[in-house]
Amino acid sequence: MNHIKSINPFTGELLKKFESLNKTEIENKLNASEKAFDQWKESSFSERSNLMSKAADQLRSEKDKYAKIISQEMGKVIKEAKAEVEKCAWVCDYYAEKAESFLADEPISLPDGAKAKVSHEPIGTVLAVMPWNFPFWQVFRFAAPTLMAGNTGLLKHASNVPQCSLAIEEVFTKAGFPAGTFQSLLIDSKVTTELISDSRIKAVTLTGSEKAGASVASEAAKHIKKSVLELGGSDPFIVLKDANIDEAAKTAVKARMINFGQSCIAAKRFIIEEPVFQKFTDLFCKHLNVLKEGNPLEDDTDYACMARADLAEELGQQVQESIDMGAKVLMGGDTPKDGSAAYSPTVLTDIPKNSPAYKDELFGPVATLFSVKNEDEAIALANDSEFGLGSSLWTEDLKKGEYLSSKIESGAVFINSMVASNPHLPFGGIKKSGFGRELSRYGILEFVNSKTVYLG
Ligand code: NDP
Repeated sequence: MNHIKSINPFTGELLKKFESLNKTEIENKLNASEKAFDQWKESSFSERSNLMSKAADQLRSEKDKYAKIISQEMGKVIKEAKAEVEKCAWVCDYYAEKAESFLADEPISLPDGAKAKVSHEPIGTVLAVMPWNFPFWQVFRFAAPTLMAGNTGLLKHASNVPQCSLAIEEVFTKAGFPAGTFQSLLIDSKVTTELISDSRIKAVTLTGSEKAGASVASEAAKHIKKSVLELGGSDPFIVLKDANIDEAAKTAVKARMINFGQSCIAAKRFIIEEPVFQKFTDLFCKHLNVLKEGNPLEDDTDYACMARADLAEELGQQVQESIDMGAKVLMGGDTPKDGSAAYSPTVLTDIPKNSPAYKDELFGPVATLFSVKNEDEAIALANDSEFGLGSSLWTEDLKKGEYLSSKIESGAVFINSMVASNPHLPFGGIKKSGFGRELSRYGILEFVNSKTVYLG
C-alpha cells in the first residue's frame, strides 16, 4: 500500500500518513463526479454564486486553521499563509459575482441578416494537478471559475500537501456544494496518467514543473483532451537607469523572497543598467539582510525553510555548479545540510552564460544580478530564457515602459510593480512557461464549450 506523507519541512516531523486511494475508491469518485455534473450543470448562476460566496465565508471564518495547515505542511510563514487564504476568498467572491456576465450568451448579427449566438456551456469533470507552493491559491484559482462554469472538479494535489488537499475539499463541503462537485484524490502521480485517459475526465489543468507538464499535456493530447499548463518561470526584473532605485530595490527583495522564492512568478533575474547597478545591488543586499529567519508559525518570521529537503538540495546543486563555473557570491551560497530544508538567501553576480543560474529556473531564495549597458541589452537578456511567464520593468518614463513591454517575451509585464496574480487579470505564460490562461474572463473560458448556435 502506498502512503502519502505529510511532513513538516521545518521540524522534519511526520505529521500524518494517508493511504493512497485504491482502484475502487477512485472509481467511486469518478462516478460521483459524473453524477454530480448531471445536476450541477443545470444549476442557476445564482445558486452557484450563493455557494461560492459561502466558500469565501468559510475560508475567512477558519482562516487561522487553514493557514496553520499550510505553514506546517510546506513551511510557508504564517503571515503569508493567512494572506493566501484571504486571496482564495477573494477569487471565490470575484467569480461568484462575475461568472454570469462572463458566460452570458454573445449575440452575433451576420451580414445577410441572419442571427447567431455563442453560448458557453460546461464540459464535465476537469482534473487539476496542482503543486505545493501555494497549496490553497493554486487550487482555488482553478476551482472557483471551473465550478462557477458548471463543471465539476477533481484535485490531484502534490504528494507533500495531503492535509491541504483534504482541507480544500472541506471548504466546499462546508459551503454546501452538492456531493461530488469538488473532490480531492489522494493518489500517486503515476495514477494521474490513467485518470487522464478515463472518458469521465474531460480536460486537465496542471501547475508545476516542465517535466510534469509535458507528461500530463502529452497524455491529454493522446486522448484529444484540452489541457492548460502553468509551468515555471525565470522572470526578469529590469531596472533602467531612470527608475526609482530605492523603490525598485525594496520591491525586488519582496518579489524574490515571496514564499521563500518558491513561486513561478517570483522575480529571478535582476537586470540592471550599469550606471545604477552598484546602488541597486547595495540596496538589494541591505533589504535582504534585515529579513528575519525563524519558525514559520511565528507572526514576525519573514522566512523559514523550503517546502522539502530535496528541493533545498537541488537548489544548492544549481548554485554550487554556477559558482564552480565562475559566478560570484555576494551573499549566502552555502551548501544546505543533508536532509534539511533550510537554505541561506543567496545573491549571485557575474553569472556565466550556460550556468544553471543563467539558464535554469532557481525555485528558491537565490537572486541573480546582471549589469547591462543599455535598454536593448536588457531586453535581449530578459528574452534569453526558455521561459516566458512574467516580467517586471522599472522606469520613470511610462511611455518608454509601455513601448518596451511589447519587446518582452512573456505572458505579463508589470511596470514599476512586482508581478502578482490578481483575479481581475489574466495569468499564464508563453514558451516553456506553458499555455492557456487562468483568472479573469480568460480563465473561465478555458473549460467551457463555446457553442455556436445559428438562429436562421
Ligand atoms: P512537480 O511538477 O513534480 O509537481 C507538481 C504536481 O504535478 C504535483 O501534483 C505532482 O504530483 C504532479 N506530477 C509530477 N509529475 C507528474 C507526472 N509525470 N504526471 C502527472 N502528475 C505529475 O513539482 P516538484 O514538486 O517536483 O517541484 C519541482 C520543480 O517544479 C520546482 O523546483 C519548480 O521548478 C517547479 N514547480 C513549479 C511550480 C509553479 O508554480 N509553476 C510549482 C511547483 C513546482 P506528486 O507530488 O505526487 O509528484
